[in-house]
Amino acid sequence: MIDLRSDTKTKPSPGMRAAIAEAEVGDEQRREDPTVNELERLAAELLGQPEAVYVPTATMANEIALRVLAEPGDEVLAEENSHIFVSELGGPAVFAGLMTRPLRCANGRFTPEQLHERVRQGDATHTPATRIVSVENTHNASGGRVWPLDELRAIVGTGRELGLSLHLDGARVLNAATALGISAAEIAQPFDTVAICLSKGLGCPLGALVAGSSERMAKARRLKHQFGGAMRQAGIVAAAGVYAFQHNVDRLAEDHARARRLAEGLYDVGVPVELEQVETNFVQIDVGPLGLGPEEALERLAQQGIGLSMTVHPTRLRAVTHLDIDDEDVERAVELIPRALGALARA
Ligand SMILES: *Cc1c(COP(=O)(O)O)cnc(C)c1O
Repeated sequence: MIDLRSDTKTKPSPGMRAAIAEAEVGDEQRREDPTVNELERLAAELLGQPEAVYVPTATMANEIALRVLAEPGDEVLAEENSHIFVSELGGPAVFAGLMTRPLRCANGRFTPEQLHERVRQGDATHTPATRIVSVENTHNASGGRVWPLDELRAIVGTGRELGLSLHLDGARVLNAATALGISAAEIAQPFDTVAICLSKGLGCPLGALVAGSSERMAKARRLKHQFGGAMRQAGIVAAAGVYAFQHNVDRLAEDHARARRLAEGLYDVGVPVELEQVETNFVQIDVGPLGLGPEEALERLAQQGIGLSMTVHPTRLRAVTHLDIDDEDVERAVELIPRALGALARA
């Protein structure tokens, strides 16, 4: 199967497996694992943050960050389809006791005006206070869309003005940095906390980091224990992360080029894709205009050996390029997807 369901589908490469096999390890709970320590140092540097803490998943990284930044009963603002709202099973309510206040907007990007409109100061007797604004970059549900740096800076500025804490769900922040041709630190440095995922485009079997000030990361380390995320000889998997930072960052541009090629190839033969959506490694395909339901479309694609997946949008599927997808896979997908979906050539 040409597995375009997600960039989480990658398997560790031979080079990554060699790095895993050779990893120096120790008790990471006691900060005695040299490979985990090295990974945390590299991640902090990459994100322009004082410190980073290794955790099993980016979901845990997000949940720890939200817990660090607010008290139960406070509110978190984010785009309505953000991962923390729609893909973490209510985690912000469960782990941080937060009220969620969704913002509706295009492409995952809200405006300073929306923040002004939606923020609540809170009072002593009735109204909860908005404490956190969370930004997702790249934004998953909108198809891996990227925040332009000036828009991001405007949100950070307004957030500060309003006295909010700022969280970046940067599960794919390296895709955003690649698309903009800037460093991840330029995106992540102004935030109070940052989550980054290692098991997406970076190709690790698991792992993520939460980053922020040393004071906040001291709290994050406590919460990591409470959440059951403190490990032992975790260097065995952290080695994959160190390897990924060294070998799998520059190549993200290849994933983006392949997504673009896929989108253009599909567009040319009349498959409903929006070319301007394709800024990173996602291509969304709207099967609605083809008269197909998403399940039926996925079934037909599977019969042609193509794996796509659902999105939060009822008629839109997505194809995601990653380390285990090469040029030949993309060319075959360009041929097989229209065949499977019965799309007609554009006149
Ligand atoms: C995948 C993802 C996460 C969670 O990552 P896991 O490591 O799978 O828990 C968080 N945020 C966004 C935007 C994601 O796409």
